[in-house]
Amino acid sequence: MDHWSRRTRAVHAGIRRSRFGEMAEAIFLTQGFAYDSAEAAETRFIEAGPDEFIYARYGNPTTAMFESRMAALEGTEDGFATASGMAAVSGTLMAMLRAGDRVVSSRALFGSCLYVLEEVLRRYGVEVVFVDGTDLDQWRQAVTPGTKAVFFETVSNPTLEVVDIAAVAQIAHAQGALVVAGNVFATPVFSRAAELGADVVVYSTTKHVDGQGRALGGIVLGSRAFVRRTLEPYMKHTGGAMSPFTAWLMLKGLETMDLRVRAQAETALRLARALEGHPKLTRVIFPGLPSHPQHALAMAQTGSGGTVLSFDTGSREAAFRLLNALRIVTISNNLGDAKSIATHPATTTHQRLPPEQKARLGITPGLVRLSCGLEDPEDLLADLTAALDAV
Ligand SMILES: *Cc1c(COP(=O)(O)O)cnc(C)c1O
Repeated sequence: MDHWSRRTRAVHAGIRRSRFGEMAEAIFLTQGFAYDSAEAAETRFIEAGPDEFIYARYGNPTTAMFESRMAALEGTEDGFATASGMAAVSGTLMAMLRAGDRVVSSRALFGSCLYVLEEVLRRYGVEVVFVDGTDLDQWRQAVTPGTKAVFFETVSNPTLEVVDIAAVAQIAHAQGALVVAGNVFATPVFSRAAELGADVVVYSTTKHVDGQGRALGGIVLGSRAFVRRTLEPYMKHTGGAMSPFTAWLMLKGLETMDLRVRAQAETALRLARALEGHPKLTRVIFPGLPSHPQHALAMAQTGSGGTVLSFDTGSREAAFRLLNALRIVTISNNLGDAKSIATHPATTTHQRLPPEQKARLGITPGLVRLSCGLEDPEDLLADLTAALDAV
């Protein structure tokens, strides 16, 4: 498999066929596994082999195929699949941290990630320090000797700021801190996060991996030691495992992910270029546009602007009028879906944040996030242009 490209890995890596030789991955919709003898059960509880399973909360053959395939895509030794992206984020942080530890995190985070860091970790005595993820000086100052981990989203939501993974990893590793990267917006298709120095890469597979808006899922990717010795004991006893049925959906999603995500990214670039400079918009944010402040970094890091763009309509009223006039693009809050989705972050995903924090993160009243789907890009452009006319 070492010489296989990512497209090939996404279709074949990690498959384990049963004695029936089925082509599509089998769904092992079973909670438990039978042992040949009492002695075999005892042995397995001491140390389960790679294809030995105990209970679906610990692991399952379908889930294991998904974990192997995702690890092969990202280039990590191992992975643990979770019930949702948030189970992956919270499980990773809870498993590695204890009271008294220090974590440095970028401030521009998915709302629920912010809750886990700000509310949950602090409640358990973890010191959490926030920095502007794009400012390396702030990272240098905050990552003091003994810092246990740094956390950031490699491309932030919804303002699409790009964090320099290699530079932050260098700062973190110099102080012995583990680098945990939330990598949803980069997608597993374009990701080089592990190669650039992230020790742990986390995905919500609800997004581009399923890519068809069907199921929640997540995965934590990293070294075998981290996944099996640090993460697995926590995950298997606290119940955040992915269901075998979900793992099967995700495996099917992976077969088409490369084609889907590349088409979505092309559409995003087409729309960003067409909308930039539109008289009804004060700003178009897309890492694939040369006007993006970290365009060069984004291109070096992932070679793509991604599948999501954001734009500012100037006011909440204009944003609402635009959203309500859309006919193809749907108002919802997923991303990476085959269906194009528009979100008003200030009143939905980031509603909870106080006004000054929204302002600090660039979540203005007129900001709209657009996740590009698989529709014809010209139909989407016509839909957006007509909706802008209504503003
Ligand atoms: C969606 C998302 C999550 C949470 O994932 P769920 O699967 O919804 O639990 C976390 N981080 C980012 C960046 C996301 O986009």
